[in-house]
Amino acid sequence: MLKKILQPASCGKCRICCGFDESDKWEIPLVFSELKSYIQKNYPEAKLTPRGNEYVFDMQFNGKEVIFCPMLTETGCMLGDNKPFDCRIWPFRVNDFNGTKVITVSPVCETVSGLSLKVLSEFVSADGFADMLFSEAKKHPDMVKPYINGYPIVAAEI
Ligand code: SF4
Repeated sequence: MLKKILQPASCGKCRICCGFDESDKWEIPLVFSELKSYIQKNYPEAKLTPRGNEYVFDMQFNGKEVIFCPMLTETGCMLGDNKPFDCRIWPFRVNDFNGTKVITVSPVCETVSGLSLKVLSEFVSADGFADMLFSEAKKHPDMVKPYINGYPIVAAEI
């Protein structure tokens, strides 16, 4: 989905988006109910716990220790193309900015956040990417997170 601006090889070397600690556990990807059924059928060992109207992988945190997603393997995400929507669009996020839905970029992804605002804005506007994110956010309101100060805004819902 992001191949125009993020090469799979860059992700393969990094994987920072698949690790979480206590402070950023809100970033754990949401598993929508369609995907939950797929995971339960194909990966019965994966434990899911409710979050709002959706689910997340059950991960136990211990202070600042980084815990990696149980779906992460040496060769990448075992879910492949079936990974959660949140993972497919990361480092883009839909945030609530004073009541308006906006699309932001997480600075944690150095590759994408290193691109200019112009490039990022053009990317999200092209091919209906922003519309798709806002539409998905309507269906799954739990994926809309509060805006974090300093995160660049690259689109706003009209
Ligand atoms: S589901 Fe896959 S891509 Fe998403 S955090 Fe887990 S390992 Fe990473």
